[in-house]
Amino acid sequence: MGTNATNTQQVTFIDAEIPHAGKLQKVATGIYWLRMPLPFDLDHINLYLLEDNQNGQEGYALIDTGFGSEKTQLLWEQLLEVLAKPITKVIVTHLHPDHIGMAGYLVDKFRAPLYMSQTEYFTARALSAGACGASDWQDEQYLVRCGLSEEYVQTARNKRKQNSGMGQAIRPIPLQFYRLQEGDKIRIGGRDWQVYIGRGHSPEHVCLFNNESNILISGDHILPGITPNIGVYSTEPDANSLQLYLDTLPQFTGLPENTLVLPAHRQPFYGLHVRINELIGHHHEHLDNLRDFCKSGKTIEQCLPVLFKRKLSPQNMFFAVAEAYSHLNYLYFAGECSRKINAQGHFVFTLE
Ligand SMILES: [Zn+2]
Repeated sequence: MGTNATNTQQVTFIDAEIPHAGKLQKVATGIYWLRMPLPFDLDHINLYLLEDNQNGQEGYALIDTGFGSEKTQLLWEQLLEVLAKPITKVIVTHLHPDHIGMAGYLVDKFRAPLYMSQTEYFTARALSAGACGASDWQDEQYLVRCGLSEEYVQTARNKRKQNSGMGQAIRPIPLQFYRLQEGDKIRIGGRDWQVYIGRGHSPEHVCLFNNESNILISGDHILPGITPNIGVYSTEPDANSLQLYLDTLPQFTGLPENTLVLPAHRQPFYGLHVRINELIGHHHEHLDNLRDFCKSGKTIEQCLPVLFKRKLSPQNMFFAVAEAYSHLNYLYFAGECSRKINAQGHFVFTLE
């Protein structure tokens, strides 16, 4: 399985077959890689099962759960039949639907404890509950501030009317959780896993590191090949997500260079330090290009081609705008540019 691969000058994927949807692939002693499908451009998520012993009962602790869909549930049902052991713990790295989607189903089925950070747990409960009758002018104002076309804003308005929000992609979230905090240790099987918190992609994202095997479960905080979405959304328009992300990446360079990283997308890899430096470099390159571009004032929407070379679908547009917003807010809060509202209600960022 290439566990001796220590060429850390570059990111190297482990030499293991990518498992078919719903099938297990061993990646280390007592650790299995499981893939589930996603209905997006990014068409899969990696989950991990860790051999566990809970109150004398053998089973598996599960990291992340898959998108809350019929398709995922069917794959879970098929897998659980052959697994022959129960799920002992359900650990969710963060609140996004592909990670928390099936948590409720599995927690109920096995009466297993749910482990999450506090901010992720309560934010997931809130977002899945939807607006609960609150008015949506801030959602609309956010889109206008981004400089999106009237047509886009109108389409989004129509969609909001039909849409009950994140709850559609998530099975009801259990009413109880066990809290994971920075520096905590959680024992799984014979191993202690230390909790590291990443911010920026989501508010209090849990990563787990075991220092005997040098394995890091990185969720979406550190991904190979693709960069995690770092966005500013209408719930918190003055968030400085990129600052939070760049603040919580360097801590992982303190982990050994030959750490095996188990990410939530793409493949397990070696080259943690090099990947962290690539991620930091990627955002600084975007910031440099924006500094240049915004010498004459620009809206968030006008900055998209600086960050994204490909053509954007309407759904990708939503995340792309949020990503551009986070970079421009970073420059704004660093005092590098002004942020004014023009006659159309768009934010205009101008380098000082
Ligand atoms: Zn995510």
